[in-house]
Amino acid sequence: MNNLFDLTGKVALVTGASSGLGVQFAKALARQGADIAICARRMEKLEAVKAEIEALGVKCFAYKCDVLDNAQIKEMVAAVEAHYGKIDILVNNAGVGSASAAEATPDEEWNYVVGVNLSSVFYVAREVGNVMLKNGYGKIINIGSLHSEVVMPNTCWPVGAYAASKGGVKMLTKALAVEWAKKGITVNTIGPAYFSSEMTGAILDTGAFDSVAATYCPMARAGKPGELDGALIYFASDASSYTTGQYLAVDGGWTAV
Ligand code: NDP
Repeated sequence: MNNLFDLTGKVALVTGASSGLGVQFAKALARQGADIAICARRMEKLEAVKAEIEALGVKCFAYKCDVLDNAQIKEMVAAVEAHYGKIDILVNNAGVGSASAAEATPDEEWNYVVGVNLSSVFYVAREVGNVMLKNGYGKIINIGSLHSEVVMPNTCWPVGAYAASKGGVKMLTKALAVEWAKKGITVNTIGPAYFSSEMTGAILDTGAFDSVAATYCPMARAGKPGELDGALIYFASDASSYTTGQYLAVDGGWTAV
């Protein structure tokens, strides 16, 4: 049997790859043989990630981009296409958290969280989708969250803007998948539970998380580095050629109960 998960010759763009899960996603794709493009706002961090990816034996192109700025998104996607000639895989990963109780959420926080976590997913998918449509091939993986599906009681922490944005990602995934189903493009969502990163440090390091996980997560723990790789490579590779519009929870069973 051919290696269904081989990505040799593919080009993958990962947004928000200056820290956290985006770095892991970019490296996982590189280990399968894909050439990589990474973007985020912190260029010095991207340069360090680029060196780590090149050490895996593939090419890496780093580009500074604020996904709240449509003009920068258009320039970034054009630059990646000009650099590699195509984009086969998009991981829409850039994201931010929200922390305010609903009644105390400032407009600015709502707009910021929805802008980064949902609107940018559409804008980047639209620009990259145009490149993929030209080539008749594409694999888009949007990063949702367990909060695409559930929230915990307010004995935990408020997630209003975040959950709304991630729920939107799940539904946007279905809409894009259906629109592009006959055009060679699959669009799917990964829904992680909690993994250690800059975003979740404040939650995971407090100790409060352990009792929440014990209550709501059947495996009673956070995700470990590498535990998203299987879902990512499945959706990024031809192993998932007949799978589109789907949400795959990688959450220790959190959303099964
Ligand atoms: P991090 O804070 O470590 O990483 C977030 C990434 O997004 C950074 O690379 C950051 O880069 C980038 N980013 C944020 N805002 C912008 C912006 N305006 N323009 C461009 N890039 C931006 O968090 P995680 O790794 O945890 O989060 C990655 C994704 O995974 C997010 O979508 C998050 O919602 C999702 N997720 C995370 C979970 C977890 O437990 N960690 C659980 C479920 C989902 P820079 O600051 O350099 O611009």
